[in-house]
Amino acid sequence: MTEEHVEVKCPVCGREMEISKVGVLYGAVAAKPRATSTHGDKTYYFCCKACKKQFDESPEKFIKG
Ligand SMILES: [Zn+2]
Repeated sequence: MTEEHVEVKCPVCGREMEISKVGVLYGAVAAKPRATSTHGDKTYYFCCKACKKQFDESPEKFIKG
């Protein structure tokens, strides 16, 4: 049994979030991403729409490497 559970960080403000495809099995689940954006072939997750907006305006500013 594999649990689909991914930890992601908002690239704009650095807030940590968790993505769980299993749903909420635990009482305490970290903040979930409120917005996503695709850049290149990668999907980025954001804690809020304001962060997504900032990212969309200049993605290269927030992508490392
Ligand atoms: Zn954020």
